[in-house]
Amino acid sequence: MTQLFQKAAIIGVGLIGSSLARVLRQKGLAARIVGVSRSAENRETAVTLGIADEMTDDAAQAAKDADVVFLCTPVGAVGSVAKRIAPVLKEGCIVTDVGSVKTAVIEAVAPELPPYARFVPAHPVAGTEKSGPANGFAELFEGRWCILTPSDDADEKAVALVSRVWEEAGMKVERMTPERHDTVMALVSHLPHLIAYTIVGTAADLEEQTKEDVIKYSAGGFRDFTRIAGSDPVMWRDIFLSNSDAVLNVLQRFSEDLTALQRAIRWKEGDKLEDLFRRTRNIRRRVIEARQDQPENEKLLLKRSARQK
Ligand code: NAP
Repeated sequence: MTQLFQKAAIIGVGLIGSSLARVLRQKGLAARIVGVSRSAENRETAVTLGIADEMTDDAAQAAKDADVVFLCTPVGAVGSVAKRIAPVLKEGCIVTDVGSVKTAVIEAVAPELPPYARFVPAHPVAGTEKSGPANGFAELFEGRWCILTPSDDADEKAVALVSRVWEEAGMKVERMTPERHDTVMALVSHLPHLIAYTIVGTAADLEEQTKEDVIKYSAGGFRDFTRIAGSDPVMWRDIFLSNSDAVLNVLQRFSEDLTALQRAIRWKEGDKLEDLFRRTRNIRRRVIEARQDQPENEKLLLKRSARQK
């Protein structure tokens, strides 16, 4: 065990924040963990589960004297949290986040921080559709990627320490620009969520009888979309609002491809359909080879719920 920090503050002890707290605890990376939650129920859950040494509803109290502050709220809230903690941050304190969008988070957080704070934006690309402290688990991050998007003049020691935390969580760490991060995520994460929300929303708008059939026969493929569409509404509202340019760009491209597919079906161009489906099957194979397929994550969830029984 290597202790990296004396005091770590985690603002927002939800799925990601509480999973990270579990990692810090299990690996002994911080001597003291102080968590922040606005809800008394979540504060009690976090203490009962031993996720944090102390819980408070005041982000400034948690950040005071902290060596590292992890911002783990939805991305729409990070700017106001940064403003709240800025006056109490000690010299050299590392401020990092876990937000699924990077450009907007940097624009919201960086101007609020004092010059002596060291900001390292980060996104651990791992998650489930669940929320809250009770649903976190330390293994969530294992084998996944964590993307860091520090500025060119970022403090390299701080970048190395944040890298180390995520490596200890079992992640592979990569560095890129915030713009590239947002474009890639718009394609691999935000667009699929948008499609899932649309499909499930369309089904919900259908007549009562059809809806029942939709649920009854959901194993036909619909079920997988409902899992994604069951993700936290506030978190995803913030992601779409703060990564709107990149999402609208990939959505435009997607609409064109969908229209081409519509045409191929209408004109019975089976070879075009087969060609596309062969290419997509190949991509699925590569995802499995890269060990980024969801079943791994589901296996972890099963292991975890078996342990809890
Ligand atoms: P979550 O389980 O809902 O946790 C977020 C926590 O933030 C909640 O427990 C909530 O705590 C607190 N919070 C919410 N709104 C707040 C506000 N306005 N001010 C202060 N605290 C607030 O969500 P999550 O899945 O952990 O996501 C947290 C962050 O991780 C997001 O930025 C998201 O983009 C990123 N992320 C998520 C995933 C994923 O798949 N879930 C993956 C990678 C990154 P209280 O209500 O108790 O105060």
